[in-house]
Amino acid sequence: MYELILVRYGELGLKGKNKSQFINRLVRNIERSLKGLAPRKVESTWGRIWVPVVNDMEETIERLTKVFGIYSVSPVIKTEKSLEAIQQAALRVLHDALPDGGRFKVETRRSDKTFPMTSPEISKAVAGYLFANSDDIYQAEMHHPQHVVDIEVRGEGAFVYGRVIPGAKGLPVGASGRAVLMISGGIDSPVAGWMAMKRGVTFDGIHFESFPFTSNRAKQKVIDLCRVLAGWGGKVRLHVVHFTEIQKAIRQHCREEYMITIMRRMMFRIAERIARERKAFAIYTGESVGQVASQTLESMFTINNVTNMPVLRPLVGMDKEEIIQIAQKIGTFDISIRPYEDCCTVFLPDYPKIRARLEEAQNMEILLDIDELINDALAHTEVLEIYQEEI
Ligand code: ATP
Ligand code: MG
Repeated sequence: MYELILVRYGELGLKGKNKSQFINRLVRNIERSLKGLAPRKVESTWGRIWVPVVNDMEETIERLTKVFGIYSVSPVIKTEKSLEAIQQAALRVLHDALPDGGRFKVETRRSDKTFPMTSPEISKAVAGYLFANSDDIYQAEMHHPQHVVDIEVRGEGAFVYGRVIPGAKGLPVGASGRAVLMISGGIDSPVAGWMAMKRGVTFDGIHFESFPFTSNRAKQKVIDLCRVLAGWGGKVRLHVVHFTEIQKAIRQHCREEYMITIMRRMMFRIAERIARERKAFAIYTGESVGQVASQTLESMFTINNVTNMPVLRPLVGMDKEEIIQIAQKIGTFDISIRPYEDCCTVFLPDYPKIRARLEEAQNMEILLDIDELINDALAHTEVLEIYQEEI
């Protein structure tokens, strides 16, 4: 019964050139998300975006609710500009929105001033029709309606809609530039990546693997996580860094309780190198203060000291439970809890240093040829392009 979906976006703070860039990017992201579904062009007019629906309405809505920058969406009936056609469309919209009856209200906007009735007259005539044809299950209610039937009378036709489905909000992915995301196979870092995307950031994933100490299934887990994230923001480029030689060197030269600290300093150095090469301006991680030994403030200070790039930690104020809730909502949780080890667990010392001191870490690193280790790891880095799941 519907032919169109109306897409609303938040316009707060958007002006001039920024606004048209925002809208163009959002339109492109919508078109990309609908690949395989909507052969016709998405249009942007009157401060809104209109998506033609060809076949699968629910699938189209489902995909749109994963596009950041969309505030809400509504299926729309387009009719000819006659009161009778509008009334009939309104009844179908009401049945669809409140199948078991309830309180409704009609609101009308009329930009086509040649239409012979005013907006309040249209609302009244439509509300009367809905009530008369409602078998007593619908009541008109001005102040606390359960549902609003919206009518817009415009040059090209009349538009009737009702259901409002909330969108993902945030900013269109790509609108805020590029970062890198340090992604393990755990629960936290994919959520951090999703939060980066929500603010319009595109990211390259960086994963450190300890092959052959970690299995291909551990790597596959990260690829699958990136695939889920690609469903929220388009293609993800994943750099899989061969980290084993670095870990061996650290184990050979550094005190056991500082292994994690120094490993993580090496990870940040490599992340910065890749970020510079990719013209990315920040490093995202899934750290949250106090979660594990390497996430005390003092350890973070010692680890962070190797880079001047902003290190962004969107989960910093969250409890594990809150993070898990988001992971479940965005579809990464079930993949994250697959049992395969990642590189940190393989080389985990029995007693990692809870407060890793900077001077100690620096002293131990004197024995490492840092540049050579990094160059070697980068030379053995595999780059994968990961697309969203084909549905
Ligand atoms: P996660 O659930 O994301 O693995 P975590 O709570 O297990 O996080 P750590 O293992 O201390 O915490 O890792 C902290 C952060 O360091 C991760 O969120 C991730 O951003 C990064 N990280 C850890 N291991 C790796 C890895 N093998 N490859 C890439 N990044 C990693
Ligand atoms: Mg982890």
